[in-house]
Order: sequence, then structure tokens, then C-alpha cells
Amino acid sequence: MENNTIDNKKHEQTRKKLKVIGITFLTIGGIFFLVGIISFFIAFNTGGVPKLFWCCFIGIIFIGIGASCAKLGFMKQVGGYVASQTVPIAKDSINYLAKNTKDSLADSAATITNSINSDQIKCNNCGTLNKSTAKYCDNCGKPLTKICPKCNALNDTNATYCDNCGNRL
Ligand SMILES: [Zn+2]
Ligand SMILES: [Zn+2]
Repeated sequence: MENNTIDNKKHEQTRKKLKVIGITFLTIGGIFFLVGIISFFIAFNTGGVPKLFWCCFIGIIFIGIGASCAKLGFMKQVGGYVASQTVPIAKDSINYLAKNTKDSLADSAATITNSINSDQIKCNNCGTLNKSTAKYCDNCGKPLTKICPKCNALNDTNATYCDNCGNRL
């Protein structure tokens, strides 16, 4: 805890310095930039050469440095604010996505299971899935159903007794 407080204080001081430096550089940069622009316009109006036009470039450099310092100085506040606003929203979105994905995965799994159960017969010999109406395996040609000799009903190949009449197969 103590270290944290000291760290925070240190950071606070650094940020204060950065803010001061940033604002100072921005002000100096602004003045230089203005001097450059004014000199340019004076030269433009009088038809002379803008002798102080280089001040614009100095100004731009100072403004750049100042802006970076100010940004760093103000960043924690801005960053903290953005994070506190964004994190719950992001969390909600992730939860929402996760829930939906889970649901749709469950749906897909259920659909696949249903389609296997209702529409397809697995070959006991080679494991190939065949249409529920198929009598012989597409892959190995083994019979997929047992036909009851008594009532002609179709039964699973591993059935011992007929589904329809109870006759031993
Ligand atoms: Zn087969
Ligand atoms: Zn039967």
C-alpha cells in the first residue's frame, strides 16, 4: 500500500510537471508560430521577404512537444475515465457474445444430433452414416436393416426381436 501511495505521488508529480512543460511549450510554440505567420503576412503585404517565417517551424516543433507532454500529463485521467466507461460495456458485449455463441453451438449440436437420430443410420460394419431409408450401406454394402421374416417390418441390424411383432430375428 505504502509503495503504491508513493508511486502514485511520484506519478502525480511527474504528470504535474508534464502538464506544466506541455502548456509552457504549447504557449511558446504558439507565440513562435504567430510571429512566423505575422512576419509572413507583413512580408506579403509589403512585398518583402518573410525574415521570421522560420518561427512557424520552431512554433510547430514546440507545439508538437508540448502536445505530447500535455497528452502524457492528462492521459491517466482521460485513460481512467475511458477505461471505467468502456470496461463494463466490453464485458457486457463479451458476455452477450459468449452466451449467444454457446446457445448457437448448443443449437447446432442439437441439430446435428437430431439429424443423425432421425435421418441417418450408422453402419454397424464400417461406421458410415446412411440415409434412414437405405437398406444397404453406401460404403461397404452390408445390410443396414433386418427384415422380419414374419411381418416384413424393418428392424435395426443389432435388434434381436422385431419392433413390430416381437418375433425373434
Ligand atoms: Zn458399411
Ligand atoms: Zn415382425
